[in-house]
Amino acid sequence: MEQSSLDAGKIKLRRDRMEDIYAHICADTVKGILEFAPSLQKVNRVYLEKNIKNRLKSFDYRLGTRFLDYSKSSIFKAVAPIRFIENTKHAICAQILTRSLNCLFDIGLTKESIGYIDCCDIDCVFITHDHLDHCSGLEFFPQDTKTIFVANKPTRDAIFKQIPVAKKLKWQTFKTGEDFKIQDMAVLTIPLKHDCIENVAYKLNDEMLQSVYMVDFGEWSESEIEFCNEADRIIIEAYYDETKPIKKSPLELRRRSFHGHLSIQAANEFIKKLTPKTDREIYFCHC
Ligand SMILES: [Zn+2]
Repeated sequence: MEQSSLDAGKIKLRRDRMEDIYAHICADTVKGILEFAPSLQKVNRVYLEKNIKNRLKSFDYRLGTRFLDYSKSSIFKAVAPIRFIENTKHAICAQILTRSLNCLFDIGLTKESIGYIDCCDIDCVFITHDHLDHCSGLEFFPQDTKTIFVANKPTRDAIFKQIPVAKKLKWQTFKTGEDFKIQDMAVLTIPLKHDCIENVAYKLNDEMLQSVYMVDFGEWSESEIEFCNEADRIIIEAYYDETKPIKKSPLELRRRSFHGHLSIQAANEFIKKLTPKTDREIYFCHC
C-alpha cells in the first residue's frame, strides 16, 4: 500500500489510501487549527473530517498516522462512536452512538445526506435550529420508522412552515433550558445566540459519557463553558478562519452577524477556557 506524507503545521501526517482531494483539504484544515490551537495537541483529541469523497472515512491525527475506515462497523463502534454524515459549511449531520441509542444531530441539506445511513436504525434525530443546512434533510426521511424527532417548540413550528411534510414525522418538543429524557438517556439543553428562531445546544448523558453538540453560535458566556466543562466529547463548530479573507466570502458574510458563527480562533479560545480533562474528545466541524 502506498504511503506518503504531508506537512501539516508542526507535525507530519502520513496518509494511507487517502484520495488527494481529501488529504489536501484535511491538511489545510489541520494546519489552520494547529497554528491557532496548539493547546489541543496536549490535552484533547481532535478529529477532523470532510465529506468530499470519502465521507464514510475519517482521519485521526492524534496518532499522526491512524486512518479509520468507518465502513467497518466494529471499528466504528469501538473507536469512534461519532461520525459525520455531512460536515461542510453548507450542511451538517452528525451521528452519535450512546450506550443505548443511535442518534443523529441535525440532518443535513439534501437527500444524499441520509442516503448514507440506515434510517430504520435511528432512534432519534435532534434538530438544533431552523436553518436549512441543519434541517432540510427532514423532507427525505422515511415516515414509517421508529425515529423520534426532537426540537424545541419554536424551532419545530418554524420547520413545519418551511417543510410541511415534516409534520408527518413523530416529534417530541421541549422548552429550551429544561432537561428531559429520551428512553433512559438524560438530555440537557441551553440556548445559543444565533440568528435564527431559537438555537439550542444538546448534552447527552448516558451515565458513561457526556456528549455535547453545539454548533452555530457567534459568541458565548459562562453558561456555555459550564455546559461543556464535564463533557467527554464536544462537537463544536469552527466555521471560518479569521486570518484568511476569501474574495467572494468576506468575514462579515461568514460571521453572518454578531450571533452568527464561530471562527477556528474563537472555537480554540472557547476550548482553552474549559477545565482540562483526560481523554476529552473535541470535534471541530461545520468548516
Ligand atoms: Zn444556522
